Amino acid sequence: LIDDLFFFSKLDMQKLEFQFEAVSVRPFIHDLMEEFELELEERNIQFEYHDNLSEDFYFNVDRKRLHQVFRNIIGNAEKYGGQQELSIKVELNRSDNFVIATIKDNGPGIPEDKLPHIFERFYRIDSERTKDLMSTGLGLAIAKELVEAHDGNISVSSKINEGSCFKVMLPTTA
Ligand code: ATP
Ligand code: MG
Repeated sequence: LIDDLFFFSKLDMQKLEFQFEAVSVRPFIHDLMEEFELELEERNIQFEYHDNLSEDFYFNVDRKRLHQVFRNIIGNAEKYGGQQELSIKVELNRSDNFVIATIKDNGPGIPEDKLPHIFERFYRIDSERTKDLMSTGLGLAIAKELVEAHDGNISVSSKINEGSCFKVMLPTTA
């Protein structure tokens, strides 16, 4: 919590230092997903990764921050996903000058009226039922700030009892 808050106060002051570098999209995301796959399989969560890119591109990213974006989204899918037959699917596509990563789970979904709020700071749904002291409702707000710092965009769609799908769009450079 302290870390998250500290992080936010830094973002607010625009003081957070990013280490942007030209990174090759495919191998970077591939390695990242391999890491998540190992972690999730250990917890008996089904994980799939599909790279649908026809060729490789570069994007200008801070590797650690991007890692954190995926961690926050995938961590949620895991945390709110419920017990049985949880599956998380990541796909990589491209549209115009953006790479698009979609992170889809088959968890409980998010009510339509709550969807517009989930990227707000400290917003949590049903914080009584999922009262875990380590959750502060900052994960997605941080993910959004980080993606936007990359000139990207993050969005979500969801259906109750079917699951949620997060979409992270990041501009490519070549
Ligand atoms: P923190 O990330 O700080 O530990 P948090 O997980 O509650 O806390 P966010 O990651 O910002 O905060 O998520 C906000 C809320 O959105 C969550 O409390 C949860 O109710 C809902 N949510 C997020 N991702 C999912 C998901 N994949 N499925 C269902 N609900 C979700
Ligand atoms: Mg979270």
